[in-house]
Amino acid sequence: MNTNTTTLRCQALRKEFNGTVAVDNVSFSLKRGDFLCLLGPSGCGKTTTLRLIAGFEKPDEGIISIAGRTVAGQDIFVRPEERKVGVVFQEYALFPHMTVEENIGYGIRNSRQRQQKVKELLKLVGLCGMEKRHIHELSGGQQQRVALARALAPEPDLILLDEPFSNLDANPRQQLRWELLDILKREGRTAVFVTHDQEEALALGDWIAVMEEGRILQFGSPEEVYERPINDKVASLVGEVNWIEAHVNKGRAYCILGQVPVASPVEGKVKLMVRPEQIEIDPHPEGHAFVAQKQFLGPTQLVMLTMGHNTIKVRVPSHKHIAIGSKVKVNLTRAPMAYKTP
Ligand code: ATP
Repeated sequence: MNTNTTTLRCQALRKEFNGTVAVDNVSFSLKRGDFLCLLGPSGCGKTTTLRLIAGFEKPDEGIISIAGRTVAGQDIFVRPEERKVGVVFQEYALFPHMTVEENIGYGIRNSRQRQQKVKELLKLVGLCGMEKRHIHELSGGQQQRVALARALAPEPDLILLDEPFSNLDANPRQQLRWELLDILKREGRTAVFVTHDQEEALALGDWIAVMEEGRILQFGSPEEVYERPINDKVASLVGEVNWIEAHVNKGRAYCILGQVPVASPVEGKVKLMVRPEQIEIDPHPEGHAFVAQKQFLGPTQLVMLTMGHNTIKVRVPSHKHIAIGSKVKVNLTRAPMAYKTP
């Protein structure tokens, strides 16, 4: 398999609906086997981007190429069924009157290969023995697996998934995430996945495109967008953050946490981006922070500190004994990013 081939290229895509700009100057490309998550708040243009790639919408401007073929562009529009794209959309319902194997086999044109292919796909998605069941006889998670198998059946160049787990509870959701990753990686499929769940995007994507108001604010690896967001908006869209005012002089920030080195080449008035797990706390009678509240979250606890007029969230292991009302000392575990403020 040549993993250097570009499977999907979107160039300067734009789509308006009655004066609302849903997608604005969206450009990115994916190599074969890449898994991209489009992440952003409701209404930022994730689904419209996916629908443009699938061919359910026509772009007003821009070019889309799939496996080297232009499928949308000036005077070019290839219909969805001719794009070699598999879709697993929330509303893309399975056929209720058909069995599991009929649903999966639906898109396989070659009838001689159909039976064998369906058998392989049932094994891949862990539904062996359920081939004769009807859709209403399956759990939500099993239905999602049928939808995934059906999308994979015609061996598409690209798989598009729009919040496929949103109807599931936390446990099956996490299980299916692992399975989805495993299946797509094993099959070497390129995929674009839409979610507004930060954790899901960071867990699944090789790449994350953080979107807002139709635009991609940052395109990068999960580590890049989480640890080195290009601006304060991206920082807030991909995880919890404490903003701490500071003044930077020669690479050192002066703030309520004391004097700390910063990871960004900025000087003067800034705000520091400090993730809750970037702070260590230790009970100390002379500590400058007070424990105002805490929430038990299983493996970790979220501790709310007050320092002067500031409230700071800290995530520490659950086994650490932190009493409400006590004083603690605060330490940063790594240099924070700093963003210029006016
Ligand atoms: P969500 O997470 O809520 O699904 P999203 O990021 O997927 O949101 P889109 O569904 O792409 O956002 O919508 C982007 C913008 O375009 C929104 O303002 C939406 O109201 C608008 N929009 C999308 N589809 C249409 C349509 N068919 N007609 C009119 N406006 C639309």
